[in-house]
Amino acid sequence: MIKVSHLTKSYIDPDGSIFRVLKDINCEIEQGEVISIIGPSGTGKSTFLRSINLLDPPTSGSIYIDGENILAKGYPVHKMRQKVGMVFQNFNLFDHMTVLENVMYAPCKIKKEPLEQARKSGLSLLRKVGLAEKADVYPSTLSGGQKQRVAIARCLAMKPEVILFDEPTSALDPTMVGEVLSVIRKLAKEGMTMLIVTHEMKFARDVSTRIFFMNEGIIYEDGPAKQVFENPRHSATKAFVQRIRKEVFEIDSLDFDFLDMSTRIQQFCIKYDIPEVSKMIQKLCQLLMPYLLAEDKPLTIRVTHSELSDETTLDFMVEGLDHSPLLEPDITSELREDLQSLCKGITEEPTSRGFRLKLSL
Ligand code: ADP
Ligand code: MG
Repeated sequence: MIKVSHLTKSYIDPDGSIFRVLKDINCEIEQGEVISIIGPSGTGKSTFLRSINLLDPPTSGSIYIDGENILAKGYPVHKMRQKVGMVFQNFNLFDHMTVLENVMYAPCKIKKEPLEQARKSGLSLLRKVGLAEKADVYPSTLSGGQKQRVAIARCLAMKPEVILFDEPTSALDPTMVGEVLSVIRKLAKEGMTMLIVTHEMKFARDVSTRIFFMNEGIIYEDGPAKQVFENPRHSATKAFVQRIRKEVFEIDSLDFDFLDMSTRIQQFCIKYDIPEVSKMIQKLCQLLMPYLLAEDKPLTIRVTHSELSDETTLDFMVEGLDHSPLLEPDITSELREDLQSLCKGITEEPTSRGFRLKLSL
């Protein structure tokens, strides 16, 4: 359905030097495929998507859609725009139009659909993304997750053959990521062809037929999701997919903003789809912090999560302590049992600056 060969894109820097964003992109995408594009930022993922729908005309190479070279001189851009829809990180809704008007705009304006028909199909698309109730309100009254669902409905209104998503959930509060991803999952089930630039690794692994790992302006690795995540061929891919996510809190005194810490832990757990761990972390902190803070020594708390292995750990590091805080005389056997029942494992070890208590959750 889409065939990209030797695609390049360069920019001329202000000092006259050439900056090659896309170096040599080659790929073929079949109808019904869901491809997640992952990779470090600045490696040309957005530029690649934007060149497929000619928002950023490439420097050289070819892009065939349904057998037609869209880079050929005189190729009608509007024809390609009808086949290829795009959803952006920042929604790009028209703020002066209602939700339904946003969805009806392109079919009326570009496809010259009769108003009543556009209204009917617009409403049915809004129903599909769960927003029929919001048809007559303005986008400013919606949450980020709702705005992005409107943007998806608006894109679907043109009946595209393929949809390009550029980090559709990156601008959202963590609590709203799920509602947008579930709409995309639904489209995947219906067989929509999609290219999705995303940092949501679990989602990418579940939903994609293939993964493109982009690095340094090329598709560095291309393969089925299982292979790319579990058995990557290149070390750069491995380093990327095995990344560890973390949230660190440095507590120097009792004046520390513990409420903010609690919020950040909750957000972290929602973001990485481990909501069940959130309460557990709060509970463990409540149990241990009175002991760990009693001696007035700097305490660092670190929550780490590996998206790939789905393992979460909670570290307490106390500076200037030469023994495990669990050996303190006032730690009761009851508390120790509580800890053991909450964690999969407890490791106690000295560090260069103090002592570390590591809890596997
Ligand atoms: P990604 O989406 O992977 O983070 P991008 O495709 O946005 O990467 O950008 C890749 C590189 O190209 C970045 O270093 C960016 O600064 C550069 N770039 C993107 N657009 C332009 C532009 N219009 N002019 C100059 N440089 C650009
Ligand atoms: Mg980008």
